[in-house]
Amino acid sequence: MTMRRFNIFLLLFVLFATVARAEWVSGDRAIMGTAVRVELWHEDPRKGAEMVEEVMNEMHRIDALMSTYKEDSEISAVNRDAARSPVSVSDELAKLVVRSLEMSRLTGGAFDVTYASAGYLYDFRARQRPQAGQIEEALEAIDFRLVEVDADHSTIAFRRNGVRIDLGGIAKGYAVERGAAILRGNGIEHGIVTAGGDSRIVGDRRGKPWVVGVRHPRDKQRVITRMPLRDEAISTSGDYERFFEEDGVRYHHIIEPATGRSASAVYSVTIIGPDATMTDGLSTSVFVLGVEAGLSLLEKLPEYEGVIVDNSGAMHYTSGLTAPQ
Ligand code: AMP
Ligand code: MG
Repeated sequence: MTMRRFNIFLLLFVLFATVARAEWVSGDRAIMGTAVRVELWHEDPRKGAEMVEEVMNEMHRIDALMSTYKEDSEISAVNRDAARSPVSVSDELAKLVVRSLEMSRLTGGAFDVTYASAGYLYDFRARQRPQAGQIEEALEAIDFRLVEVDADHSTIAFRRNGVRIDLGGIAKGYAVERGAAILRGNGIEHGIVTAGGDSRIVGDRRGKPWVVGVRHPRDKQRVITRMPLRDEAISTSGDYERFFEEDGVRYHHIIEPATGRSASAVYSVTIIGPDATMTDGLSTSVFVLGVEAGLSLLEKLPEYEGVIVDNSGAMHYTSGLTAPQ
C-alpha cells in the first residue's frame, strides 16, 4: 500500500470509528429522594458518561445544600437558628429563597416555602399527620412575609418563632435547570435531565422532538397526554407522589398554606415552559390554586402552558395548548 492510500484508509477508518461510536449515553441515580436520569448524545460515549457523572455530582451538591433531611445542610441551619438571628448562607441558597418569595407574590401566596411550618408535622411514609390543634398553632408561622433575605449579605432571618422553610416545591426544577446548563456548557446539543416530575430538555432528540408522557394520576400504567418538546422544561405535581389514605381522605405532600392541609381541588398539574425552576414552582402553585385560579394565572404568563387534571379526572388546558381530539 502506498503512503497516500494508507493515509486515506486511516482517515476513513477514523471517520468511521467516530461516527459509529456516537451514541446515546444515560445514567440513573436516586438523589434528592427521587429518581434522577440524565440522557445525552455524544460522539465519544466515554466523555458522555463523564458528563452524566458531572450532572449527578451537581445534583448531590444541591441536595447537600437544600435537604431538610440533612442536619448539616444550610437549610437545616436556617430552620434551627433564623428566628433568633440572621443565618449566613451561600449566595446560591439566598437567591433561590428570593425566587421562592417572588413565586409567592406571583401566586398570591399559593406557593409558600413556609408551608413547612406545618408541613414538617407530616410523615407520609410513616402515615403520620398532625392533629387539628397542631395545625392551628403552626398556621401562625405560615406566611412568606415572615422570611427576610438580605441579598447583599446573604443572610436569612425569620420574623417569628416556629417558622420553617422547605424548598421541595422548586429545588428539583432548579437542579435539572443547573444540570442542563452543565450539558449545554459542555457542548451537548441533545439531552434531557430529569428529577422525579421535573425535566429539562436540551435541544431535540436528533431531528425529532423529545416526547414526554404525563401519567394518569390514578393509574401509573396509563399516559393521559404526550408532549413533544424541544429545548423546554416540563414539571408535573401530583397527589400520588407522596401520600397515604385514611378513612377515604388522601393526605399528600402539597400543602395549602391557608389551611396547613393537603390541597384537594386537583389530582395533577403539568406545566411546560422555558425555565425548569419556574415550571416546578408553577406546578406546585397551580396545584394549590385549583383549576380556575390556576388557569387564569397561567394565561398571564405567555411563555408557560399547563394541563390540569381536576379531582373528577377531567382535563383542562391553557389556551396555548390544544386538547387531543
Ligand atoms: P412538587 O412535586 O414540585 O409539586 O413539590 C412538592 C413539594 O413542594 C412538597 O414535597 C413540599 O416539599 C413542597 N410544598 C408543598 N406545599 C407547598 C406550597 N404550598 N408551597 C411551596 N412548596 C410546597
Ligand atoms: Mg413543583
